[in-house]
Amino acid sequence: MVGIFLTTLSLLVVLFFVMQNLQSRGQKKVLPTVTLTGAIGAIEQGKVTQLHLDDGSRQATLVLTNGVKVVTAYPLGSGPELSQKAIESNVKVTASPERRRSIWPGLILSLLPVALLIGFLLFFMGPKMGMGIGRLGKSKGRPAEVPKTRFTDVAGADEAVAELTEVVDFLHSPERFITAGATVPHGFLLVGPPGTGKTLLARAVAGEAGVPFFALSGSDFVETFVGVGASRVRQVFSAARRQGRAIIFIDEIDAVGKARTSNPNGSGGEERENTLNQLLVEMDGFTQSGVIVLGATNRADVLDPALTRPGRFDRRISVPAPDRVGRTQILELYAQNRRFAHDVDFVSLARRTAGLTGADLACLVNEAALDAARSGSAVITSAHLNAALATAVMGRERRTAVVTERDRNITAWHEAGHAVAAFLLPHAESPVSVTIIPRGEAGGVTWMGGNDNAFVTRSEAQARLVVAMGGRAAEEMHLDGDFTQGAASDFASATALATSMVTEYGMSELGVAWRTRTGQRSEADQVGAAVDVLLKRALDDARELLVTNADLLQAVVDELLTEETVDGEMLAALARLFEARAPRKLAVTRTG
Ligand code: ADP
Repeated sequence: MVGIFLTTLSLLVVLFFVMQNLQSRGQKKVLPTVTLTGAIGAIEQGKVTQLHLDDGSRQATLVLTNGVKVVTAYPLGSGPELSQKAIESNVKVTASPERRRSIWPGLILSLLPVALLIGFLLFFMGPKMGMGIGRLGKSKGRPAEVPKTRFTDVAGADEAVAELTEVVDFLHSPERFITAGATVPHGFLLVGPPGTGKTLLARAVAGEAGVPFFALSGSDFVETFVGVGASRVRQVFSAARRQGRAIIFIDEIDAVGKARTSNPNGSGGEERENTLNQLLVEMDGFTQSGVIVLGATNRADVLDPALTRPGRFDRRISVPAPDRVGRTQILELYAQNRRFAHDVDFVSLARRTAGLTGADLACLVNEAALDAARSGSAVITSAHLNAALATAVMGRERRTAVVTERDRNITAWHEAGHAVAAFLLPHAESPVSVTIIPRGEAGGVTWMGGNDNAFVTRSEAQARLVVAMGGRAAEEMHLDGDFTQGAASDFASATALATSMVTEYGMSELGVAWRTRTGQRSEADQVGAAVDVLLKRALDDARELLVTNADLLQAVVDELLTEETVDGEMLAALARLFEARAPRKLAVTRTG
């Protein structure tokens, strides 16, 4: 709004000046001009009867004896001299008082570009800027609506739903709880990774209870002006209280509620603290109120203990990534109102989607539906779902990327190295698919199946390291001992895993409970050395494995170069053909 107003105002000002200019031009009669010397000469020779000086425009008008008028320009300060000369020659002298030029036109003209710029910025970027003029200090909590979301819109989160049903019951009839002398917690923390349905659950609570839903996000407060975060919190809480019963949802609460010592000098620290304090004050304020606050975070461990004290966020509800049954339920939920081919099996699809969240699965079904629509199919087939799954896991195909023959070969060897290692190692996850079509950021991808196991055994962790090294080992075979930078991200993930094995899991020769303490160099060096041992051993194992199975590796490379993608079944068929297996002497296949 402000943008439109300023832009219109600026345009009006421009129009005004143009009109004025045109008008004054129209009024002026153009007189013949003479030089100053000519004018002085004419005065001295008595050819002038009248002289009119205008110091404002520094122009003198002379009326000649024959009645003709001429004008001449004179420099600043020479007016008195000119009039003196005229008086001496008996010329009648008149003068215009020096007009005080208004400062407004100049001021407006110089401010015009700035006004235009501000108008433009507000008009086009206002909604995106965190704090347009009109929004400063205003609550970002959308106007309180009662959501239409219900618990039936949430799938695979039965435990969270069961716990939140208690909140709905309380909101339905608080008197029942109050007469029974029961105190219902007012602050709940929904803890889980992004996309697992925390916002959805919070909306469903409000929808089920038929109460207004106010939403805030912790990250909004952090970089705003001092005082804005606290005032937003105050506004939202008082608006919610006015409603009597309401849900306030604070997403990313860790952005505000991070432990105060964790980032003492960081930017936005003071503002965060003000906001946090305001939140604590507000939460302490309602004991008997019908306002329930639901906070969402993935990092409950970093929260300030003040926030989780009794009476504040003292209940924690876990909202993890769904297990296999949960994934099946979510897929079935999104399958409603969509038509699927008979070959689609959600149980098997759920099995292949370990690690994906509700948001990922919703997106997957939608992608498959889009794909079906694009290809003119009336139903969604398992091919559409598989393609969508491959995109979800490996990134979108970049078929237009220009890849040289040399790079294509290196990618085929690198990916075949991962795939063969993963296929042959008994403790590794089996590869689902391997491709040399560039996807997402990567030149090629090997997609491991994954599983729902929460525990990783030492043999499995070691096998992961060997699989990660498979790419580099295969490159060495292809380039006669040389290699590329292509293994950089493999090394990054392998180093992260190996570091956890050494410092957290007690899976190295350094023994159990080994942790680096900052500042203790010798310990850090020892950990580094132990990580290096694990990685080097893994690389040696990968080399040994691939050299022993060079014929299988070559066959997979050839298949990749011709077909671009090789799936798990093809890999198994090739391995059978070459009777391939992991050598027993490898460190990774030995136990202990
Ligand atoms: P979070 O708040 O945990 O980051 P959201 O609630 O914003 O996740 O989830 C984003 C979207 O993903 C939801 O709007 C919904 O479409 C889908 N979704 C996520 N989890 C589930 C679930 N358990 N059941 C159904 N849909 C889900």
